[in-house]
Amino acid sequence: MKHTMTRRDLLKLFSAAGLGPALASRVVADESGKGPQGKEQTLGSMLQPTSVENRPRYPAFIRDGKVIQPERPLTVFQETDVLVVGGGAAGWAAAVSAARAGAKTMIVERYGCFGGLWTGGIVLVVMSTHAAENGQLTQVVRGMGGELLDRHAKFDKAIVNCGKQKFNPTTDPEATMFLMDEMIQEAKVKTLFHCWATDVIMDGGAVRGVVFESKAGRQAILAKVVVDTTGDGDIFAAAGAEHVQWLHAMGMVHRLGNVDRADLAKLKAAGYKSLGHIEPQPSVRWVILRGPSSNGLDINELTRLQFEHRRAIWERVQKMSKTPGGESLFLLQTAPQIGVRTTRLLAGTHQLTYTESREPRKFHDTVAVGGAQHGEHAGWPIPYGALLPKKLDGLLTAGRSFSMDDKLVEDGRLIGACLTTGHAAGAAAAVAVKDNCRPRDVSIPKVQKLLREQGAYLG
Ligand SMILES: Cc1cc2nc3c(=O)[nH]c(=O)nc-3n(C[C@H](O)[C@H](O)[C@H](O)COP(=O)(O)OP(=O)(O)OC[C@H]3O[C@@H](n4cnc5c(N)ncnc54)[C@H](O)[C@@H]3O)c2cc1C
Repeated sequence: MKHTMTRRDLLKLFSAAGLGPALASRVVADESGKGPQGKEQTLGSMLQPTSVENRPRYPAFIRDGKVIQPERPLTVFQETDVLVVGGGAAGWAAAVSAARAGAKTMIVERYGCFGGLWTGGIVLVVMSTHAAENGQLTQVVRGMGGELLDRHAKFDKAIVNCGKQKFNPTTDPEATMFLMDEMIQEAKVKTLFHCWATDVIMDGGAVRGVVFESKAGRQAILAKVVVDTTGDGDIFAAAGAEHVQWLHAMGMVHRLGNVDRADLAKLKAAGYKSLGHIEPQPSVRWVILRGPSSNGLDINELTRLQFEHRRAIWERVQKMSKTPGGESLFLLQTAPQIGVRTTRLLAGTHQLTYTESREPRKFHDTVAVGGAQHGEHAGWPIPYGALLPKKLDGLLTAGRSFSMDDKLVEDGRLIGACLTTGHAAGAAAAVAVKDNCRPRDVSIPKVQKLLREQGAYLG
């Protein structure tokens, strides 16, 4: 009997063979409604049947008034050499560095993009890219971060205010996300977006992977080295590493549109002090509101402040647009991610202090150099010990959670330092994997050599 296969039958077959998503995932950025072969395709024809996933179920239950979670085996999604948790500036740099150094690398990110607060939080100014080294303004954010900033220059309106030496540039968040995707994919880092790491897998005193949640349920990833770049130290805290916790101002950034058509002088005269900062797109400005000091790990506070900030911003822009000079303004965007500045800081084998950062000094284990917010002082070496837990093995941290004292937080959490410490953690993780040793036992000269080969500035 002759049977003609329809497109739907074919898709079913491909889907059964696990090829469905690959075939269906090609995106054409237009609204032509054309299918893969250039034929017209109705939206209705794209609704395809698929099999229901029958996963094993292990629901929690109530016993004696307590909610009990039953013991259950977890599917191991993948085993890898280096697992980076959190794809902000630090995690992104760590993943690209480790992968370029030859380690099988994976990154798990709870949202759908790289950049964390830089892009999703619309914090667009990359501060502390430079420092006054021997009296000369010198770029300290090199390596992964430096290359990423350089790549912005190939696009129109992707980076601004960088002058001759790209000092503290402001980047367009879409360009940054695009370029971060590009570099991660070039480095062949296995990426999982929309996955939230919730626990650690321990083997004695060492982290051996993470448990994560997603639409596909709870699964595990096993790794030789885990890099915690969640910003909030979710992984080192879950593993029981010693740490401290801080409250900090929790703000929210927003963007104003049509700024080039507004009369900013008139608005200033009417009492609006903060009219935002320039962006590569001249019609747009980003505006930062500091917000109150609060706990970035408290879900009630995160929710309350999300409501409060959005209301305050909406009302402010409404008022501005009714003020002479501001008629053209509109609220283009509130940041998708609330601005959590600082929460957990690792208690590392070396807690870097503000005093150390302002005195001329060298560390035998320098793996990154922090910059000066306005180029006003020398670069400050960041020792490997600031990324390394005191006791816990199998784990490093980088970015805004590395080990520093409270006075250094205003420098250590800036995007520049997140990019460089992330790069350092990724390189160290790759060396640990290659030499089959614990992160605390890596050869520092080997890590420094790799970092230099990857373009990092170590002073
Ligand atoms: C309002 C505000 C204004 C600022 N202004 C500036 C400025 O002008 N210039 C400057 O240089 N810096 C500024 N900063 C600081 C800077 O933006 C951040 O400190 C820096 O971007 C942090 O980078 P990070 O990679 O360490 O962490 P984050 O950017 O926080 O990235 C962490 C990533 O991990 C993901 N993640 C978290 N938990 C999990 C989990 N459990 N599982 C999976 N993924 C997870 C997050 O989604 C995120 O992508 C500002 C910060 C704020 C809040």
